[in-house]
Amino acid sequence: MLQLGQNYVLCLRTLDILQKEGATGMTIKVVKFGGSSLADSLQVGKAIAIVKADPTRTHVVVSAPGKRNALDTKVTDLLLGWYRLKKQGVYEEAAQLWTAICNRYFEIISGLDLGLDLRDDFAAIQDAQEAGASEDFIASRGEYLMAKIMADALDYEFVDAAKCVRFNSIKTASGHLATHDRLYNEGLTHSLVYSLMHDKRVVMPGFYGTLLDGKTIQIFPRNSSDISGAIVAAALQANVYEKFTDVPGILAADNRLVKNPRSITSATYRELGELAIDPSGVFHPEAMYPVQTAGVETHILDANNPREKGTVIYPDIRAPSLTPGTVIGIAARAGFSIITVYKVAMNREVGFVRRVLEVLEHERISFEHAPMGRDIMNVLLETSQLKDKEDYIVNRLISFCFADEVKIEDSLALISTVGRAMRDTAGVAARLFTALANHGISNRIIDQGATEMNIVVGVKESDLKPAVNAIYKEFFPSA
Ligand code: ASP
Repeated sequence: MLQLGQNYVLCLRTLDILQKEGATGMTIKVVKFGGSSLADSLQVGKAIAIVKADPTRTHVVVSAPGKRNALDTKVTDLLLGWYRLKKQGVYEEAAQLWTAICNRYFEIISGLDLGLDLRDDFAAIQDAQEAGASEDFIASRGEYLMAKIMADALDYEFVDAAKCVRFNSIKTASGHLATHDRLYNEGLTHSLVYSLMHDKRVVMPGFYGTLLDGKTIQIFPRNSSDISGAIVAAALQANVYEKFTDVPGILAADNRLVKNPRSITSATYRELGELAIDPSGVFHPEAMYPVQTAGVETHILDANNPREKGTVIYPDIRAPSLTPGTVIGIAARAGFSIITVYKVAMNREVGFVRRVLEVLEHERISFEHAPMGRDIMNVLLETSQLKDKEDYIVNRLISFCFADEVKIEDSLALISTVGRAMRDTAGVAARLFTALANHGISNRIIDQGATEMNIVVGVKESDLKPAVNAIYKEFFPSA
């Protein structure tokens, strides 16, 4: 029987996309500008020039104006501050914040010499606040106003995200979105986006949508307008999703560990998924899902140097081939523990692994990797998840799984060395381990992901920085 594996499904999707492109013949680029690229009239001017430079940049998604310098405050934070002060009845300080908010937009409008008048919009926000609008509504207005300016400057249609982005989930009591499901309703959102934006030139504010009632404004997590842009790109089956920011791309290593790491020039979504963290925080991890599943390419570009190539993220089946053995990036994180479970002849025991994982599941503990030997199973997980539970888990693994011995070791760091071209290439692991050995670093654990595009090593936390640098120098020698 035919197995519908991931690749096969992706192939079908891509075929579908190619057919649609062929049918419409129109090239669509969805362009997203982050807050730092819209911080003042100078930056907004650059963003406008970028859009105008390429007529295929048909759809634009914007953040709210961000920080103009390290000491500055983002407009979203000004809005939230204003909202909270008003609620507390601290009117004088609230009024100062309100003036600061309005001035941010006035500076952009006058700096760009636009005829736009936002006074009615400002008044509407104040009225809404008086009438009991939610915090999410107020937070969303930063993007709303920015999109109005951008639409005016480009002479594109303004489409309110409240008309098309629909959330499935609501905020939990802890203030986080319930993420067991996708945050937004993919089918409904895609059809609304398509019907409102297809065959048009549009600017849409990022960062928010509404609940399924179509009225209650709901924001995405902070710093995640990327998700809105990715949704539009996926719904329109764009040729490219361009995300403009203020750095030259996704870094190949964490710049807190490696000095001036280079940017990744080309990656696949799966490789980025294996890297698990984008140390530079340039592309919101949740934003990958829509574009990855729709087979849309993403380009991470620098708004200050728009001609530079930046990072291109390819759908997995369209990725160009690389020189065998190429490593694209190294991700590293401290704060891990390893649970080691010994049991003689565990390989012959039906259900042993399930029982071990059941013990963890019962405690609502998730894990990163679970490398195994014949008589031994290791479970790597974040130490914070074991807080106040270590003794219980050890005892439970012995009594419920009849393990011979259980140990928990803390203070580990995990380093993932990732590259799709590692697959079927001899010697990559040897180079990595030789680099570590040459620096006197021993690895506590090794796991080569099933995809063969990721070698994970666990080292002592104190070895994290030298280990990452040793691996980086080995695979990026000229950097
Ligand atoms: N303006 C929002 C924030 O500051 C969203 C974003 O910029 O991506 O979090």
